[in-house]
Amino acid sequence: MSKTLATFFHRHARASTIAAGAAVVMGCAGYAWSQVGFPPPPPRVSPAAGVIDMHVHPDPDVFGRSLTDVELALIAKRKGMRGIVLKNHVVTTADRAQLAMNQVPGIDIWGGIVLNSSVGGINPAAVEWMHRMSGGRGKIVWLPTFDSDKHVKTLVDKTKSGIVVAPGGKVTPEMDEILKIIARENLVLATGHVHAEEVVAVTRRARELGVKNILVTHGLTNIPGLSPAQAKQVAQMGAYIEICYFQFLTGPTAQYQWMTHWDRVDAKAVAQAVKEIGADHLVLSTDLGQQGMMTPPDGIENQVAAVRAAGVSQADIDKMMKRNPARLLGLAE
Ligand SMILES: [Zn+2]
Repeated sequence: MSKTLATFFHRHARASTIAAGAAVVMGCAGYAWSQVGFPPPPPRVSPAAGVIDMHVHPDPDVFGRSLTDVELALIAKRKGMRGIVLKNHVVTTADRAQLAMNQVPGIDIWGGIVLNSSVGGINPAAVEWMHRMSGGRGKIVWLPTFDSDKHVKTLVDKTKSGIVVAPGGKVTPEMDEILKIIARENLVLATGHVHAEEVVAVTRRARELGVKNILVTHGLTNIPGLSPAQAKQVAQMGAYIEICYFQFLTGPTAQYQWMTHWDRVDAKAVAQAVKEIGADHLVLSTDLGQQGMMTPPDGIENQVAAVRAAGVSQADIDKMMKRNPARLLGLAE
């Protein structure tokens, strides 16, 4: 190699180390060839490989989404992901998950139900029929999201009320019925957008009734807004606390106005949570799929890079993105 060329490679490699930080974190070789005005070269194996994203929002939907169930499944499969969980705020996704799996063999797809008013709110019959849907892909029961009292009071109007599941810390009889179905069918309870105190109360009651799998939906953002003490409390009761990549992108400087309503919980917060709560009690997912946003598998890749850069080990990331979701879904790890 001529001297000039060697100098070029040397200088260029150094610049690329900084510019292509994500690729280096992803363990990508060949970064000397990357260019400053382009994304880093694709890693041989996507950091999303083997990951289960417990929270994605595809089309059809009542809100703007970028990809259909099948389009998203194709991308996730191409990246080597193990599975995705389809969430929809107004209809069950147990049937859609099965249809998408038929179209895209080689990836696991699950669905569930969000207990908003569109399905009758805290409605045991809706849960009972959801898990019976042919294919057996209906696994997740989310407590109310935009119809919950906490959501209404936080984002809509402080003087209005929404659905409650444990007023004054006491779980309602209908909620109790649903927890019994979740326990009997070994489904996953996800806490949706209810008050932090309700998250604690429902988690406690769910454990009493034999519910094994509990996921505290984006627990550390403003809805539900768990305090550090509450987060530790539910983790000790055996719940996993979810942190979504979508929350890395929210807050006052977010890309879209609608995203500014959500507090930012970023990679630094994940590193902190790993220290204080422990990777054994956390799940990283994306909550992506919105119109104009990156695809959920791209979100997983970025989330891995960001969390690695914040000092979290790959072993802990594997727990939070692969092992813990697999445990929640009752899969072999
Ligand atoms: Zn969501």
